[in-house]
Amino acid sequence: MSLYLEQIKQLVELQHVDDKIYAVKKELEEAPLQVETLRERFNEEEAKIARINDKLQHMHEQQKRLDMDLEDETARLKKSKSKLMQVSNSKEYQAMSKEMDNMERSTKNHEEERIALREEISIQEDLLKEAQAVRDELKIDLATKEESLIERINAANQELEKLTAIHKETGKDVPNRILERYEFIHRRLEHPVIVPVKNSVCTGCNIAIPPQTFIEIQRGQQIWSCPNCQRLIYWAEHFQDQHQEEKKAKQNKPQVFAEDLNLGESLN
Ligand SMILES: [Zn+2]
Repeated sequence: MSLYLEQIKQLVELQHVDDKIYAVKKELEEAPLQVETLRERFNEEEAKIARINDKLQHMHEQQKRLDMDLEDETARLKKSKSKLMQVSNSKEYQAMSKEMDNMERSTKNHEEERIALREEISIQEDLLKEAQAVRDELKIDLATKEESLIERINAANQELEKLTAIHKETGKDVPNRILERYEFIHRRLEHPVIVPVKNSVCTGCNIAIPPQTFIEIQRGQQIWSCPNCQRLIYWAEHFQDQHQEEKKAKQNKPQVFAEDLNLGESLN
């Protein structure tokens, strides 16, 4: 392979390494955020449970008051009934009987209120159970994620270190001038930095490059930039030939069959 093609190849490899570095950095950024989001959801569920408990406490107090009222009313009604038996004056009798009607109506209202309250309590208790189940699940999930977070970050940092070392190694045959250019574009542009030109169109920005530049990259002697997007460009067909040769080489390689591998122990 010519030095030019070797350099292009190394730049493309450099890009692969940078893609991996990008993914690892993203993992480093997102892993703590995932835990944070989970913790927020857990806190929200806790707050919801507290709200329902407040409501329930309120309703239980209301229920107690209603029970007491009803007890009072029933006792008073009983007393009035026995009093009514002793009344001989018809005017007094009418007055008392009217008062008792009122008391009975009030008792009935209170009883209906109590039934409605019981229903509402039962609804809130169901909601509470539901929220508690969600909270318990989140708690387990959160504990697991918190525990593995440190491991995840350590693994990512190790990977990053490894990739940074590879990054330094890759592109050693590329002139510094080009490497600086690569880094310059890398810092400023959306991925990717180096792209093939297909049918004289830059695949980075999808705009045709000038014929003179196209002739130059076909010559394959110097690394050029797309005049439009500034990405480093190369002629796709330079590498199509190479891919085909690599494919052929792979096909000619003897294949390894499962029988050739020593799997005896793991099968038992
Ligand atoms: Zn371009």
